[in-house]
Amino acid sequence: MIIPPATLGMLGGGQLGRYFVMAAHRLGYKVVVLDPDPASIAGAAADHHLVAPYDDPAALQELANRCAAISCEFENVPATTLALLAQHKPVRPAASAVGICQDRREEKALLASLGIPLAPHLALLPNEPIPAQASDLFPAILKTAREGYDGKGQWQIANWDELVTALATSNAPCVLEQKLALEGEFALTLARNPSGAVSALPLVQNWHSGGILDQTRSPANAPGLEREAKTIAERLIAALDYVGVLTVEFFLVAGQLLVNELAPRPHNSGHPSLDNADCCQFELQVRALCDLPLPAHIRVRPAMLINLLGDVWQAGTPNWPSLLALPGLHLHLYGKVDPRPNRKMGHVTITGADWQAVEETTHILRTQLG
Ligand code: ADP
Ligand code: MG
Repeated sequence: MIIPPATLGMLGGGQLGRYFVMAAHRLGYKVVVLDPDPASIAGAAADHHLVAPYDDPAALQELANRCAAISCEFENVPATTLALLAQHKPVRPAASAVGICQDRREEKALLASLGIPLAPHLALLPNEPIPAQASDLFPAILKTAREGYDGKGQWQIANWDELVTALATSNAPCVLEQKLALEGEFALTLARNPSGAVSALPLVQNWHSGGILDQTRSPANAPGLEREAKTIAERLIAALDYVGVLTVEFFLVAGQLLVNELAPRPHNSGHPSLDNADCCQFELQVRALCDLPLPAHIRVRPAMLINLLGDVWQAGTPNWPSLLALPGLHLHLYGKVDPRPNRKMGHVTITGADWQAVEETTHILRTQLG
């Protein structure tokens, strides 16, 4: 067990890292953030910010020296970096698990090997002949195997010509996935500590727009789906011998849950827990990293999350005082200075005693945001 005021390491300095710093600070830990961006918002909140590339040997040595344990805020930290750090200090989640989540092909192979339902798909390489059965998947989505997020690195494919063009444009290993008629999207965030305790947030329901999360309802209030999602997620945790926070994204298709993808970390759709749960996903991350006890049951109250993308600033700075006057509204701004379109600048969570109150305020908020 790693006890406060130990120092924890965080690879990655965006909003997820920033909330990790806040949760760690609340529990009395210190945090060193490694992120190459001098303007890192997590770096600014941390006790120390190492400004260096994720594979910089001297910076990794310093991180290992200063920290009792290390975690990451995103899956694209080189797996070699995690493996190297693990020679010196506990790294949670482990390089092996993060490595699988870095690559859609490996992720899907794992799911298939466990018999967990997933979208029909095919792995494709640029500069190699495309197997004829690819056309069975049309209409489809071509996704780069690595480094996609928020719908980036994806192409909508209606026919063979579009596939050939998109694969050439990607110039990278890809997965072609059948485009499914989604009845809904859901996510489950859970944590496991090194002692084997597991704790889950409630299942949430997600709505995306243009491949980016727009809105999350917590809890989803779908007990049957939640049981099914937990069973799947716990099987994944066991198969990966996972330690840390894991988020599983689900599609609901013809009444059945399919796994879309895995994130080896807290997730945008887990942000309601910052305001509606008695243990948030970042505290789960700290507790799992440090082998502290995990809550047996996390109580939540109704909440709706609305993401604030840079687009909201197009018409000028939003009227924060007027938003803050709404009942049960919790404003989160991440401290980013440049509100580019599609950039996650912050979010709002609306809590209330019941769904009617939450939905009324959500409606007013939507109207105000335009
Ligand atoms: P990212 O890594 O960008 O989150 P996802 O694979 O989760 O990539 O895709 C982003 C969103 O695009 C999903 O949440 C969903 O709304 C939509 N999407 C992705 N794959 C499919 C699919 N096979 N069928 C229908 N919609 C999809
Ligand atoms: Mg996704």
